[in-house]
Amino acid sequence: MKCPFCSSQRDKVIDSRLSKDGLAIRRRRECLECRRRFTTYERVEEINLLVVKKDGRREPFDRNKIITGMLKACEKRPISVKIIENFVSEFERELQERGEREVESKEIGERVMKKLYELDEVAYVRFASVYRSFKDINQFMDELKELLREKESQKAKDKGQGEFRSKPTLELIKKGVE
Ligand SMILES: [Zn+2]
Repeated sequence: MKCPFCSSQRDKVIDSRLSKDGLAIRRRRECLECRRRFTTYERVEEINLLVVKKDGRREPFDRNKIITGMLKACEKRPISVKIIENFVSEFERELQERGEREVESKEIGERVMKKLYELDEVAYVRFASVYRSFKDINQFMDELKELLREKESQKAKDKGQGEFRSKPTLELIKKGVE
């Protein structure tokens, strides 16, 4: 670390301790050239994530916005707020760990849709029909078949583990969009 007094880069750490809030490590250093002391702090870098919208505009990542959108889709459905909050926290942590500063709104939308699909078909349809603004029912059904196929192959992988869940019918979902 460059000495703030003489600019030498040779120093030694003489003391190292955790800050009161536990969020930083404070280090006392001594310059080996001029012998003066200075302090450095080390803390986890918080990435201020930006969401890239379809038209290229950027806006700060807002977890509450995602939660609100999901809750709206889950209105009067048997899905707890806790489940949704946990999902968003997990997703946010994953984005933080990735270390990139930007995420496309499309990726967020897709992730939310997949999650809702796992949780509740009706909530999924509500969200998807607003989010995707499908041109027609056929486009929607194509997307849905894709999702179902993925889900089936996942189920095959998990076979014997997870609990049995009745297969959603395309009719139910179709009804939801019309
Ligand atoms: Zn110095």
